[in-house]
Amino acid sequence: MEATPELDPPARLLMGPGPSDVSPRVLRALAAPTVGHLDPYYLGVMNDTRRLLQHVFRTDNELTMPMSATGMAGMETCIVNLVEPGDEVLVGVNGVFGTRMCDVAERAGATVHRIETEWGKVFTPDEVKAGLDAHPKVKLVGLVHAETSTGAHQPLEGIGALARERDALLLVDCVTSLGGAPVEIDAWQIDAAYSGTQKCLSCPPGLSPVTFGERALARMDARTRKVQSWYLDLSMIRSYWGAERAYHHTAPVNMTYALREALRMVHEEGLEARFERHRRHHRALRAGLEALGLTYIPDHSLPMLNAVAIPDGVDDKAVRGALLREHGIEIGGGLGPFAGRAWRIGLMGASCSRHHVTALLGALGGLLGGAGDALSAADAAYA
Ligand SMILES: *Cc1c(COP(=O)(O)O)cnc(C)c1O
Repeated sequence: MEATPELDPPARLLMGPGPSDVSPRVLRALAAPTVGHLDPYYLGVMNDTRRLLQHVFRTDNELTMPMSATGMAGMETCIVNLVEPGDEVLVGVNGVFGTRMCDVAERAGATVHRIETEWGKVFTPDEVKAGLDAHPKVKLVGLVHAETSTGAHQPLEGIGALARERDALLLVDCVTSLGGAPVEIDAWQIDAAYSGTQKCLSCPPGLSPVTFGERALARMDARTRKVQSWYLDLSMIRSYWGAERAYHHTAPVNMTYALREALRMVHEEGLEARFERHRRHHRALRAGLEALGLTYIPDHSLPMLNAVAIPDGVDDKAVRGALLREHGIEIGGGLGPFAGRAWRIGLMGASCSRHHVTALLGALGGLLGGAGDALSAADAAYA
């Protein structure tokens, strides 16, 4: 076998739907010496990580921790622990991730009722209420806070109370929103939520922070059947994160170092300042993209994920290919019905800066024509 060349990844500006750029501080944490997963030092790292996650999730939930896999495993963890075969669940479907929630719940044996709206639109509390009225036996309501496939920002205020009136749990996907826009687990009465590391937390992909409130714990404790997944069974994982520190699986020690450092950076910046930074660069990017003649797809756009329609006659793959090859900039294409019809431009965590906005508008404007106007529009938004 020939020698394999040394790893030498190209420098990129990661401006797609994730992963986002990772700061050197987080990369250094990843390279710190590995210790055992039961080493007293690591137990301290776990406690710090939980405390920092509680801060970013805005919760006092004791059961708050990262699962040892990416965001989809967080989705699956929540569903397989909170749903038993035969349970009825209600899922809001307005993009890829709501569709996936249905698929995961069906595989867990649930009877899934969908409330649907057009891709790019969000649900009103009345639409959720109508879904609950139509299906009074629903035990869990699942919604996607930040639908990364469409850029839609789902308002959540008031929905937790609706679920509570019916004795249903509210499960929220905040993979893309956490660390970039307010996620108020306690104030919004969210019973369970999952996120990911590689979006607005700007940590490499590999962990999925989750949090569970009292009502979710009561539901797990009242289960009559074992959780179908051995690996994701929280009744065992809780013992490792609790006082027993019982071995379940070998924790991804260095990934936890990295997440701890990424969360320390979130805390240092301050949540409000961080959200304001995401709004500010979103406004400038939006001004620039609109100056290029691009239109936003969703009514309620997320700040960290900008989904715009590709103009007629423009070759999606050619443009994204040129951005990557000639400018080192990654943006995302469309998924499902938006394949070939949308670009998804991320401004997440460390990828949310004036440098990123300007580089993208200059490069995209160069390819489509109109770079000067786009940059002036962005500058005016920053003024
Ligand atoms: C990225 C994403 C996921 C899945 O996360 P992975 O890390 O790719 O497994 C789930 N939900 C939403 C809304 C996402 O944006």
